Amino acid sequence: MNKVELEKIKKKALEEKIPIIMDDTLEVISKILKEQSPLKILEIGTAVGYSAICFSEYLKPNGYIDTIERDSVRVEEAKQNIKKAEVENKIHIFEGDAVEILPTLNETYDVVFIDAAKGKYPFFLKEALRCLNTNGIIIADNVLYKGYVMSDYNKHKQRTAVRNLREYIAEVTQNPNLQTEILEVGDGLAISKRKK
Ligand code: SAH
Ligand code: MG
Repeated sequence: MNKVELEKIKKKALEEKIPIIMDDTLEVISKILKEQSPLKILEIGTAVGYSAICFSEYLKPNGYIDTIERDSVRVEEAKQNIKKAEVENKIHIFEGDAVEILPTLNETYDVVFIDAAKGKYPFFLKEALRCLNTNGIIIADNVLYKGYVMSDYNKHKQRTAVRNLREYIAEVTQNPNLQTEILEVGDGLAISKRKK
């Protein structure tokens, strides 16, 4: 991967206020990926490709990332960025709504990274579990959503997002087949390992 290009991609995304993965969150995920050395990663929410490019470094040789993005402008930028970072052979973008695309996937993945519409997290979880290998890991970003999720905050337009994030946390912590940790890094990170 081309690190100079990666820094430029990050800088531009931050300037454009695109919600790319935060540094401390990336550090935690990188550590997991380094240990896991996944063959296949599924990402929900590509944005401009920054996190996918970062994750591609930890793939097994011949490994790849499938990533889903519904915003066509971001898809175009992600394609250019992936090319600049010289990882086109490792990242495949699906353009469209993940709610429609996920049910069409017939593969299994070692890691699923959920980083898209917060109101859809329970649905994404259901699909992630369907697509997850034994020993697979589901990682979800933004699960504490600025602290709203763990407070009694219950107003305004974020209400649906907060309700669905709470439901996501309840499901991953209560599912007997998952071992889950909720970390306060970045905007909140849920790491759920499928038990053997
Ligand atoms: N993972 C990226 C950041 C993703 S930001 C990174 O760290 O670099 C979240 C992205 O998810 C946005 O670009 C948004 O357009 C996309 N998104 C939100 N809901 C979606 C959905 N239902 N289907 C596909 N993409 C979605
Ligand atoms: Mg995020």
